[in-house]
Amino acid sequence: MTETRSLVLERKGELALREIDLPSEVGPNDVKIAIHTVGVCGSDVHYYTHGKIGPFVVNAPMVLGHEAAGTVVEVGSNVTNLKAGDRVCMEPGIPDSNSRASRLGMYNVDPAVQFWATPPVHGVLTAQVVHPAAYTFKLPDNVSFAEGAMIEPFAVGLQAAQKARIAPGDVGVVIGAGPIGIMIALAALAGGCATVVIADLSAEKLAIAGQYPGIVPVDIRSQNVKDVVDGITEGWGADVVFEASGSPKAWATLLDTLRPGGCVVVVGMPVEPTPVDWSLASTKEARFETVFRYAHQYPRAIQMMGSGKVDLKPLISDTYPFEKSIEAFDRAVEGRPTDVKIQITMPS
Ligand SMILES: [Zn+2]
Repeated sequence: MTETRSLVLERKGELALREIDLPSEVGPNDVKIAIHTVGVCGSDVHYYTHGKIGPFVVNAPMVLGHEAAGTVVEVGSNVTNLKAGDRVCMEPGIPDSNSRASRLGMYNVDPAVQFWATPPVHGVLTAQVVHPAAYTFKLPDNVSFAEGAMIEPFAVGLQAAQKARIAPGDVGVVIGAGPIGIMIALAALAGGCATVVIADLSAEKLAIAGQYPGIVPVDIRSQNVKDVVDGITEGWGADVVFEASGSPKAWATLLDTLRPGGCVVVVGMPVEPTPVDWSLASTKEARFETVFRYAHQYPRAIQMMGSGKVDLKPLISDTYPFEKSIEAFDRAVEGRPTDVKIQITMPS
């Protein structure tokens, strides 16, 4: 353990920049990474404002942050795929590689997964972290640290797109233009959708999403999503509908926009159990998929960003130095509609 200056959530509503004991021992299969950039995620903000997410409760001081990129500074004796100096980003969840879920290829739903900044596991708003090499990925030269720290939320979008089994020329709908909604829309386009309709009631968020060719923003205060989708598909409906708002209200009309035999991908998590019109779902033979984080998406995300197929830079709203990270969090708490992603950079 080493005392390191970190951004610590002391308890609900209280952040501090202070020294805290963190693991520093590099095991044979680990690498040590000097953190460069960390994105502030909705979950970090929620732990700050509410002290818990579902069953995960902050009962002890915890370092925040899980969307990170940096530079390898040390590698364990068994590590052959990475070396000191490599620029990397890291998957924040470490499963038990021998668990039944991992052996099935679904390591993201391993009940034993240890995920950064999910109590009681410390996050990465600190100078250096130790991480398994297997969950550490090299960045291409043309992908910046800032973009590398965007891979984590983009991986959720790719998981949703893959679960949808998009075919070339599909028409998609995304309900909710928050950071994850926009990531899903971009992943769906890159994954083959011809057009993605994105619906929200924030004109600012829709304007950010709508700057990408292929994304059609719909303001639900003045427009009906079904009318827009019917216009694009001659009344047939969307091939895939992604629910990314977490709003129970969205479910009241969600299936109206889906074509017969289409797929609903559930990404947003309503806080309360939410009714679904199963009769309508059955008459359409709708397929339902759910998404929990992601598995095997980092290499795909990195390929897409390296090839220039996806540009996430316009989604980085502002960057704060580490010493101002409490300010960065208070800005994120404000939830400005023009903000998609706030990032924090560590002193080099
Ligand atoms: Zn995140």
